[in-house]
Order: sequence, then structure tokens, then C-alpha cells
Amino acid sequence: MARIHVIGAGLAGLAAALRLVSAGVDVTIWEATGRAGGRCWSFHDRRLDRRIDNGNHLVLSGNSAVMDHCRHIGSHDRLQIARDAALPFVDLSNGARWRIRVPEGPRDMMRGGLGLPAGVGISALFDAARLMTAGPHRTVADAIRPAGTARTHLWDPLTLAILNAPPEDAAARSLAAVLRRTVLRGAAACRPVTMPDGLGPTLVDPAIATLAEAGCVPQYRSPLRGLKKQDERVAALQFDDAEVVLAPTDRVILAVPAPAAGRLLDLPAPAPGQAILNAHFRVTEPLEDSYALLGVLSGLVQWIFVRGDVVSVTVSAADHVDMRDPEAILATLWSETAAALGLSGRPLAQRLLREAAATFSPSPADLAHRLKHDLPWKNLHIAGDHAAAPLPSTIEAAIASGHTAAENAVAVIA
Ligand SMILES: Cc1cc2nc3c(=O)[nH]c(=O)nc-3n(C[C@H](O)[C@H](O)[C@H](O)COP(=O)(O)OP(=O)(O)OC[C@H]3O[C@@H](n4cnc5c(N)ncnc54)[C@H](O)[C@@H]3O)c2cc1C
Repeated sequence: MARIHVIGAGLAGLAAALRLVSAGVDVTIWEATGRAGGRCWSFHDRRLDRRIDNGNHLVLSGNSAVMDHCRHIGSHDRLQIARDAALPFVDLSNGARWRIRVPEGPRDMMRGGLGLPAGVGISALFDAARLMTAGPHRTVADAIRPAGTARTHLWDPLTLAILNAPPEDAAARSLAAVLRRTVLRGAAACRPVTMPDGLGPTLVDPAIATLAEAGCVPQYRSPLRGLKKQDERVAALQFDDAEVVLAPTDRVILAVPAPAAGRLLDLPAPAPGQAILNAHFRVTEPLEDSYALLGVLSGLVQWIFVRGDVVSVTVSAADHVDMRDPEAILATLWSETAAALGLSGRPLAQRLLREAAATFSPSPADLAHRLKHDLPWKNLHIAGDHAAAPLPSTIEAAIASGHTAAENAVAVIA
């Protein structure tokens, strides 16, 4: 019987493996590290004495692959789907607060308007139209007006949050792809989805448990070092101390990050993108009535996530942040967070995490190097967030790419 080797136990690899075991295929997962989840994981932080995520992740209700994944592994009820398709913001420079919201329908639009922040104006819709029709070499900055409130209050925060890059560096097409799958589908696709139990318990641990029930347990600490290629096929997988020779019907799904995939295949691939900083603050009591999610302007903090008595903040595109004095960074992040949430005093405990290469680079030049599915090796399929063009580096892209790779592999062996 054919066996499919999945390389990488991030969400792309797990999603692929889940589809494969459901189709009755024998699967082996090879993972370089000692845990699953890749760039999405949770751990118990001793300083905070709380379980935290490596980084805050925002998903929208229109992320259908994420929703399917959670239904499949029985964790859908762990998703907290906001009632409103709205993102609240505060501007620290003047205290102004507003919500960007997608109306529920024409009647709601008549009542509540288009949900654009004050001063943005209808001309933001022309920016959006230019984004949607931008060519592959255009950045977000090329498509939108260079200055004004629409730029500072809408496009800058959205581009940083979605693409982990400023508008000058990010391809217009990637942002357009996300807007097409969310805003253009209406409010039902735009409700913010958070994971109060954390990324691991919601997306990863139940996936591992579902795979284990099917007899599939990842082979941890097994970094793939090379692929032996022969006659347009992958003939063997090369590990540190072993070579796994593939039977003629065996197949490989390569679900590793873009730079690693490029190295293993000896092909150009998107470079790593910027770092993302996350700070976690434990506060004296749960902030039940506070914002679950708040966008912040005019500070270092960009987003605040509240989960019980842990307040977590995100700084995307954080390569510019000088990490030599973490205490000073934490002090800045806390004072901005306290101002945004109306808190006083000091946090009980705090933790600063920096994820280098959190995403792949969304520049037009890097996206031109995305690996395509028509690779020259006939038993090799590609997965990973970078393989789900035109989506940017997201959980949705990772899971969708795993599903596609699994379906392509099953179609061949069926
Ligand atoms: C701090 C942070 C914040 C983020 N915020 C968001 C967000 O708000 N919303 C969102 O949707 N996305 C967000 N993302 C992006 C999202 O996490 C990723 O796009 C997604 O997790 C990628 O999944 P993947 O399976 O494609 O890759 P990965 O998660 O990188 O998984 C790849 C796996 O392959 C393994 N591997 C690598 N090389 C080898 C090898 N040679 N042999 C065997 N195994 C190997 C790795 O160890 C890893 O486990 C964020 C990421 C970070 C880090």
C-alpha cells in the first residue's frame, strides 16, 4: 500500500496528514523539532504562571480552512467568534476611539454607515478598487493614496497586521486576496475569531490526538536533510542517521517553511519576512469586560489581545525594534497598553517574545518565487503557508495548502 511521507508538523503538515488518514492512506510525519505546531504553539510560562501562545494570532470567520480544520478535530467550540464584524481601535496620540466594521447588509449599512473611521471618507473605496486590480509588481503603497487618514487609520494597520510588513514592502495582490475572501464576502466572513484556550489546545493538540487515533504519531527530532532525486521522482529521504527509500507508489508532501523548502529543492523561494514581537503581561485580575481585541495607533503596540488576566500585545514588522534593552521595550509596551485599556499600576509579571521570520516576505519580488504545484518531481507535493498563493503567510494559507496537497496526493494514488 502506498505511504505518504509528510515533512513538517506545522499546521500545513498536520492538515495534510488529517486529510490523508481520513482517506485511509498510511502516513508518516517527519518533524525536525520536538513538538508539533511549527509557528503556532502554546506553552506554560513559568514567569507568568499561565499558558501563553508564542504569538497572538488573529483569524477571521471567513477563514474556511481554519473552520474546517477545527470541526474535523473537534475544537470548533474553542473558537471565540465575535458577534460583530468589527475591529475597535484607539489612537494614543489623542485618545480617539473608533471601530472599523463591515455592515451586516444594506439595511445595516444605511443605519451604521460603511464602518470607516472618522476622516477616512468614501475615497478609501477607490484605494480598495486600485488594490483589487493591482498588478503583480505593485506594492500596497503603490495602490493607495500616499497620505491622509485612510493611510494612517486603515491601510497601515491592516497591512501590518495581515502581511507583517509596511505598505511599501508588501504586495498589493496579497492584501487584495485577503480582502476578497473576507470584506467582499460581507460581515459573515469578517467576524474576528480568537482562541481563548490558546493556539496549541485549539489547533494543534486535538489534531495530534485525532492523528494518534488513526495510528499516526509524528516522528519528532527528525530533520530532513536532503531529498535524493532520481528520474523525476524523489527516490529517498535523507535524515541524519538514516535514508528512507521510497517505494514506487510512495509520495512526499513537503510542508516546511519557504526558505527550508527552497534549500531542500534547490529552487528559489520567498525569503523570510520580518520578526513579530509579542509581550505578555499578567495583571491583577481578569479583564472580563475589557476588549478581547484592540488595534492601537501612534505607539509601538499595534494590537492588544485580552485573555482573562493575561494581556498580550503584538508588534508586527518588528525588525526595526532594538532588542538590546528588553526591559525598556516592556516598559514602553506596558505604558501604552495601560493607556489604551485604562489600567493603572504595574503588571504582576511580564514576558517578551520575538519570533524571527514569523512569516515569509510578502514583497512582490519574493512572491514571484513562490513554489508552484507543478514541480519536476512527480511524487512530490508542496504544502506550507507559502504554497497557497495568492494568500499571505497565515494559518488559513497553511491549512488550505495542506488540504490541497493531500487531495492532490490522494487523487494520484486512488
Ligand atoms: C508571532 C507570529 C504571529 C502570527 N500571527 C498570525 C496571525 O495573526 N494570523 C495568521 O493567520 N497567521 C499568523 N502567523 C503566521 C502563521 O503562524 C503561519 O503562517 C503558519 O503557522 C505557518 O504554518 P506552516 O505549517 O506553513 O509552517 P510552520 O508552522 O513553520 O511549520 C513547518 C514545520 O516544518 C518543520 N520543519 C522545517 N524544516 C524541516 C525539515 N528539514 N525536516 C522536518 N521538519 C522540518 C518545522 O519545525 C515546523 O514544525 C503568525 C506567525 C507568528 C510566528
